[in-house]
Amino acid sequence: MDIVKNLDGIVVNLVDYKDNDVIATFLTKQYGFIQVYVKGRKKISSKSYYLINEFNEIKFDLSKLNLSGLSTFKSGTSTTMLDYTNLSVEASACLMLMGELLNKIKSNNEFNHDAFYKHTKHTIHELSSDNHLYEALNKFIYQVLKINGITLVIDRCVSCANNSSIVGFDINNHGFICSDCLHENTESIISDRKVLETIYLLDSDTYKASGSSVDKTVFKLLYYYLKEDLGIYLKSGQYLY
Ligand SMILES: [Zn+2]
Repeated sequence: MDIVKNLDGIVVNLVDYKDNDVIATFLTKQYGFIQVYVKGRKKISSKSYYLINEFNEIKFDLSKLNLSGLSTFKSGTSTTMLDYTNLSVEASACLMLMGELLNKIKSNNEFNHDAFYKHTKHTIHELSSDNHLYEALNKFIYQVLKINGITLVIDRCVSCANNSSIVGFDINNHGFICSDCLHENTESIISDRKVLETIYLLDSDTYKASGSSVDKTVFKLLYYYLKEDLGIYLKSGQYLY
């Protein structure tokens, strides 16, 4: 393919290649994840030295697009560059986890690129401004589960599809459970009202600030699914527990 112009991308990973070059992973609005060869990126005199860095959002052109292999970077400009100087320790830990997660998504790119790109961009923005840390991270992990085919039923009972008298979240069955379907209260049922309300909002843009212990409970639940259902283990998860 010839030159492809005006792509929107977020840099999610860099791997050294030869003496001066890198192979970068971009999450793009147009094609999902792509691998891009960036010549000369490691030279401080290179224009891409400050541009191609983790979490930077860029507009760029490729001299070659190869969706199943390696594309070739041509040029780009930054639209958002992160400033880490005033970031809290917790915000840094959340960003670290997000970066690790973005690198481990085993998605085959068959998802709504535009929507996931917006979610990712929004999450980076929230985390790097120290806003809604766990809520933003939880909503992001929820989307990651979703694009990998793990659906949580959070708008009705997972068993009878009734959307009233929800009394718990059944961890083993990936969804809410109503009072008619709840037969025994086992360890796999979460019944804390605040936690349920927070789970209910995972797929919405609404932030609730339900308190860090509630958000951490939800985080642990989502983290559990990443491990159990997708086999994704995140080293940086330990900093957030
Ligand atoms: Zn039910």
